[in-house]
Amino acid sequence: MNVLVINCGSSSLKYQVLDMKTESLMAKGLVERIGLDGSIITHEKAGAEEKFKLETPMANHTDAIGHVLEAITDKDHGVITSMDEIGAVGHRVVHAGEKYASSVLITPDVINALEECVDLAPLHNPPNLSGIDACKALMPNTPMVGVFDTAFHQTMPPESYIYAIPYEYYEKYGIRRYGFHGTSHKYVAERGAEILGQSIDKLKLITCHLGNGASVTAIKYGKSIDTSMGFTPLEGLVMGTRSGDIDPAIVTFMREKGNLKPGEANDILNKKSGVLGISGVSSDFRDLEKAAEEGNERAILALKVFAHKVRFYIGAYIAEMNGVDAIIFTAGVGENDMGMRDIICSNLHNLGIKLDLVKNRVRGKETVLSTDDSKVKILLVPTNEELMIARDTYKIVTKK
Ligand code: AMP
Repeated sequence: MNVLVINCGSSSLKYQVLDMKTESLMAKGLVERIGLDGSIITHEKAGAEEKFKLETPMANHTDAIGHVLEAITDKDHGVITSMDEIGAVGHRVVHAGEKYASSVLITPDVINALEECVDLAPLHNPPNLSGIDACKALMPNTPMVGVFDTAFHQTMPPESYIYAIPYEYYEKYGIRRYGFHGTSHKYVAERGAEILGQSIDKLKLITCHLGNGASVTAIKYGKSIDTSMGFTPLEGLVMGTRSGDIDPAIVTFMREKGNLKPGEANDILNKKSGVLGISGVSSDFRDLEKAAEEGNERAILALKVFAHKVRFYIGAYIAEMNGVDAIIFTAGVGENDMGMRDIICSNLHNLGIKLDLVKNRVRGKETVLSTDDSKVKILLVPTNEELMIARDTYKIVTKK
């Protein structure tokens, strides 16, 4: 069976077609600037030398999905001859609240439940729902599955997810820690256990998803027991443009001092903070490292603050799990930035964590990075959220 994976953002859409017999990628692509001037689809057939690009007006997600379906069935750069060859569609959905602890077949009830979560993820759930609507309109008979970023973290115990604010805010409004990037943490944890040749049920793992958005998760015997993101993806680590943990009193103070309008503090903390805010240079670690090499003090500081926070969570999760068997790095920074992995792992020898500096000279490839005598294994596992979504979709649709 072939599965189409759809990941809708507000003005962009990523897709992949996978053959689930072999779990191989057939095609992938990206639609950008949906609803804006200059909408463009970039489509890549696996193994093809050239990408297909088409700039054409796309007013909404239905238009965008229409172009995706044309691209995958095109006689030159397509990979299937008709849409009948797509057995199911897997949708990435950011927030399922407390409703779903695993992926589900999308029914009208599921859509209602996700609409109820719009308040909790006002930027993410609406485009995800638009993607589902658009696919339903164009492929009314194809089964669809929702795969949720929050689902994997539903195993967190209450002491990890309850905030110390009046309990009625949890009961009335659902204010609690949910956690995100669940599909990625789950994928790299399962793959990491396979690489180590051990059952995930017997392992204590710390997975570090370090990209533009970043989070760390403590996974004990296959279950997420704590994660650094919270009610929203703003909590936890320092990120590209997000502040991560700060004293909540800063928000009120900033509002008063800066005479900020409603929504402005939120904007500053989500879009102008993180390593961008500290450095004033960029949110991209490649730019920061270049600036740091040239002696830019604030870029150096931003990198140090980022690493400090990752180490802080690693330490906390070792304490929470009473040990750790492996630390796994993934996502843009985790997979590619050997310098950052080095800073994070340095000076952890007393905890049995030893990075091999030669093995660490690698990008984007599954690798054991720890020294042979390191008690704790350190792994690089490139994330593959699309494959995870396709696997769940295939499993649910075929009931395997
Ligand atoms: P992601 O959100 O997982 O796509 O990660 C994106 C981030 O990864 C970029 O903003 C960069 O900061 C970082 N990144 C990607 N490639 C490299 C690299 N070769 N060296 C350092 N950082 C990188």
